[in-house]
Amino acid sequence: MIKTQRKLPEIQTGLYINGQWVEGSLEKKAVNNPATKEELIKVSQGGEQETLNAIQAAKEAFPKWVGMELADRVKLIHAIADKIEEKADQLALIMTLEQGKPLKEAKGEILIDSQNLHWSAEEARRIYGETIPAPNDHKYEVKKQPIGVVGAITPWNFPSNMIIRKISPAIAAGCTVVLKPASSTPLSAIAIFEIFHEVGLPAGVANLVIGPSSDIGKTLTNSNDVRKLTFTGSTEVGKMLFEQCAQTMKKISFELGGHAPFIVFADANIDEAVEGLVAMKFRNNGQACTSPNRIFVNKAIKKEFVDKLTTAVSKVTVGNGLEDVMTGPLINGEAVKTVQAQVDDAKAKGAKVLAGGESLTEGDYANGYFYAPTILDNVTTEMDIFYEETFGPIIPLIDFDEEDEVIAMANDTIFGLASYFFTTDLKRAEKVSEALEYGLVGINNTAISTSEAPFGGVKHSGVGRENGSYGIQEFLEVKFVHTKYLD
Ligand code: NAP
Repeated sequence: MIKTQRKLPEIQTGLYINGQWVEGSLEKKAVNNPATKEELIKVSQGGEQETLNAIQAAKEAFPKWVGMELADRVKLIHAIADKIEEKADQLALIMTLEQGKPLKEAKGEILIDSQNLHWSAEEARRIYGETIPAPNDHKYEVKKQPIGVVGAITPWNFPSNMIIRKISPAIAAGCTVVLKPASSTPLSAIAIFEIFHEVGLPAGVANLVIGPSSDIGKTLTNSNDVRKLTFTGSTEVGKMLFEQCAQTMKKISFELGGHAPFIVFADANIDEAVEGLVAMKFRNNGQACTSPNRIFVNKAIKKEFVDKLTTAVSKVTVGNGLEDVMTGPLINGEAVKTVQAQVDDAKAKGAKVLAGGESLTEGDYANGYFYAPTILDNVTTEMDIFYEETFGPIIPLIDFDEEDEVIAMANDTIFGLASYFFTTDLKRAEKVSEALEYGLVGINNTAISTSEAPFGGVKHSGVGRENGSYGIQEFLEVKFVHTKYLD
């Protein structure tokens, strides 16, 4: 039962341009709680003009930000990280109220923000160039320079960390930023910008524009002053933005959809596999680009695996993220419909429902967008769920016999972001990790993302990488300087 009533902390409701909170010219828009459908607050909206103002502010701030003493820039980024950590409980509450995920998970996301920022601040000191052996009286020098003004567009599923994963390497590299967050979760973005302001990030270095996505997106992509677009979201929108960016030859890094395979070989530690699957599948209620979406189980261990999985899933608690639950609501009614359509299609084509299979609508669940933790057995390639990205608490089980067969099935998708497999055979681990066409591979492990290591996809899952030293390179240009020494 949902008993907890906790209010939204006091928060700005405007756009943040050139170091100031400003009202947008469009009608304010409500932000709603997906666990209760209640309106939390109304937030200011801006369009083309506000985006142009933000781009101009970022353009003017760029030379000053690049020119700032490196030690001071580094100190400021560490200070943002510290302040985020200090305010983690408040930021987590804001996130849970607007996005739905459990408080503990929200706080975990906020603490990762802090880790990302510290890592980027440290990496700012290691943006090394190169000298290359050259003929006598010549010098070959490679410089790394910040790319300039960056446009950033982020989704609602990790409403804080997707922002920090972009802004922290960008500002560490010396770039300035215009951010457009997702319409359903602007408060987590505002909360971060409040901290930028409090810590004293110079005006124009980071700007926040909230409003209609298509208008803001086009203004960013059409602008020659914006040198790069970094986007996280659906593959569909990513492809459209990719085309738009071609007009101004923008650099891009895009983190898009995923449809992760999760393979359980006959020699796997089954308890570890079940634990890893349940932890990752119900993280953010399955609304993650890295969520295990196609579970391939070797027939020899299928019965034991399914018995243990069914028991584990029966213990998953669902409810308002302010309560002590493992998983929260879906983001909105459309998300519930999409998940139900995949389940209905699979059932109609022969899938067997081992758990869940329907939305939760009784009692307090009636006030939000809840869906039952679901296991579908006998899933085949005829079903939509085999190929379409799933953004919900569904575990589809697919049988296999042979290693080569399961590798082929795992790679049978346009997506290539995360993949997982469980085995105790070292030789198999080498072979399968080589063969999987994915940017990320988790072996006997599903918690694979970390500040230090590159995160990103291949195929239709995106272009470029975030995190680690690869992440900061995305915000740098390479300049070759060839000097001839005269007598
Ligand atoms: P989405 O619909 O693509 O939206 C993402 C962002 O793009 C939002 O800010 C959205 O704004 C904006 N947007 C939508 N249409 C646009 C347009 N025409 N021009 C410019 N911007 C536009 O995706 P979502 O539903 O928020 O997020 C879920 C998707 O993100 C999933 O496919 C998931 O796999 C992917 N994702 C990928 C990663 C990764 O690292 N690879 C991480 C997280 C999520 P509005 O909110 O205003 O519509």
